[in-house]
Amino acid sequence: MAFFGEALSKRFGNREAIQVMPLAAMALVVMLLVVLLWLLHRNEIDEENRGLIQDILWVEQNIHFHLTTDVERLQQLADLVSRDGMDSDEFAIQSRAVIANSPEMTRVVLRRADGPVFRSMPPSEVGSGGGTDPEWSRGVTLARTIGRQVYGGAYGGKGGGAFDAYVPVFRDGQFAGVVVGVFSLDALLVHHVPWWFAQKYKLEIVDANGAVLAAKSQMPLSEPGSSYQLRFEPPGQGLSLVATVYRSDPHLARNVLAAAIVALALLAVRSLWAVRRHVRRRLAAEQALRAEHAFRKAMEDSLTVGLRARDLEGRITYVNPAFCHMMGWSQEELVGALPPMPYWVPEDLERTMELHTAVLRGDAPPDGFEIVFRRKTGERFNALIYEAPLIDADGRHTGWMASVLDVTERKRAEEMARQQQDKLQRTARLITMGEMASTLAHELNQPLSAIASYAAGCLNRLAAGDARPEELTAPLTKLGEQAQRAGQIIRRIHDFVRKSEPAVAPCSLNQVIEGAVGFVEADARKRGIRINLSLDVVSPWVDADRILIEQVALNLARNAMEAMGQVPRSQRVLDIAVRGGGGHAEVRFADHGTGIPPEVASCLFTPFYTTKDEGMGMGLNICRSIIEAHHGRLWFEPNSGEGSIFLFTLPERAGS
Ligand code: ADP
Repeated sequence: MAFFGEALSKRFGNREAIQVMPLAAMALVVMLLVVLLWLLHRNEIDEENRGLIQDILWVEQNIHFHLTTDVERLQQLADLVSRDGMDSDEFAIQSRAVIANSPEMTRVVLRRADGPVFRSMPPSEVGSGGGTDPEWSRGVTLARTIGRQVYGGAYGGKGGGAFDAYVPVFRDGQFAGVVVGVFSLDALLVHHVPWWFAQKYKLEIVDANGAVLAAKSQMPLSEPGSSYQLRFEPPGQGLSLVATVYRSDPHLARNVLAAAIVALALLAVRSLWAVRRHVRRRLAAEQALRAEHAFRKAMEDSLTVGLRARDLEGRITYVNPAFCHMMGWSQEELVGALPPMPYWVPEDLERTMELHTAVLRGDAPPDGFEIVFRRKTGERFNALIYEAPLIDADGRHTGWMASVLDVTERKRAEEMARQQQDKLQRTARLITMGEMASTLAHELNQPLSAIASYAAGCLNRLAAGDARPEELTAPLTKLGEQAQRAGQIIRRIHDFVRKSEPAVAPCSLNQVIEGAVGFVEADARKRGIRINLSLDVVSPWVDADRILIEQVALNLARNAMEAMGQVPRSQRVLDIAVRGGGGHAEVRFADHGTGIPPEVASCLFTPFYTTKDEGMGMGLNICRSIIEAHHGRLWFEPNSGEGSIFLFTLPERAGS
């Protein structure tokens, strides 16, 4: 069987072999049972044949014995005849005695040497001496020739079959006649075949041609069993005994047994099939489980987050490799440990214990908590812990699962980033302060020169003496505005330097740009420049520091105007446009000035880069810082005709 199993494993592979083996074994068992049944059947038939042969031999012996005895009696009668000549009465007495002792002998006849019947018992018509004429004459001749008893051939049909035995009678050495015993074949069978034989076999006496001369039973055979033919000698002459076994429903038991085996085999195959299906499902489930387990293990092993499970008493039931790595203790050392845990900080045991009991009570903060742990090396580190209840397959709460993060590095990085940010801010503020201080002069230059020119204009009028107060109102108002503007610039820069944070508030970009244009209008007029202001129909709203954005717009407008200083007056047009939509508001300043040559373009935003005599080279740099601080973008493009376009975008207020 082991070899069989091995062969199956080779043929189908291990798992298939496990499934196929029971079926194959079952088939083998059924096959063996069939072979066994067949062998039993064969054995039964052999046994039957052996019994048949023994029994028929016994019967033949028995008949033989009786025939021999009968013929001996005839011999005694022949001896009497030979000695005494035996008259009619004496023969009748003696032959009746012979017949009485031999029931199978139906008649005793005494024939003369020349053939005719001399005496007969029971008496019969003269001439009848048993067999047919040629038959008895052959018997007589043979008996006379060999000088001792002989048997004649059988005669008569079925039911009346008989044969004769001839015993020669010699008187004074002369053949005097023959004593003939007529034997009935039927009577032979009736008297010398016992009941048990007749019960088991059908016994027939057949002649050389196979014709049945006598039979013990007339019962027809439903299914003839094995039969055996034996020469019936004496009398011989081609006679045979044929015994055939009766079979009374012989196969019933075997058939029932075979049917039971087949039914059992079918049942076994069916249950094996069910088992196979079950095993397959189980194997599939096991495979899925193994895959799941492998996946989970790989996941756990690859995690950098420490995992720790505790039961309801706080005993550690599981730790993952990351946790062991974090703490420095092995899994074996940690699993099963009860508080106080080896990684608790000794000087903070009380607080740690409090937290521990809070977790077991279910009062752990849902957003996690931070705690200081110590590694096996003694090093302290900050751990961030999230606790979650551990629920088993039956929905029972069996403990707590914690994810533990070593946040020391993160905290250190955060702290460093904060320090760097502070440093950066300080530096940025210093730079901005520097930028502002340098730009202050630049920015204040404009309003102050405007103030000076308005003041000069007013003074001129007053000096001329024809100044009407209402004529002075407009320039003085403008003068006041410029003075206010200068004051605002100084205040703004002061504020900026003081708190560095821009005063961001929602403002309409249309209004901001309109305001800025208002400041440059006078200057533009003086330079002969036409300003085309195209505002968006729906003003975009932005979160911005209004003054700073105005500053940017002022600076860009002023640069554009200065770029157009040398071009013919007709060309001096400054197109300013505000457009919203798409999440970003865009402001563009398109001039028709000299444009920006490539060598200038590369260092346009470099601090202190200027092509102007009294320029500072800080304007564009500051503008870009302001726009970027507002999460916008500032850039320039060449104008389609001549000149350049400066653009900046600002994020639009959500929902505006
Ligand atoms: P400043 O105006 O003090 O020179 P800016 O930073 O504002 O400083 O400008 C730097 C340089 O960029 C200017 O000197 C000028 O050469 C160039 N520039 C700025 N705007 C324009 C413009 N619209 N057309 C041509 N050149 C410009």
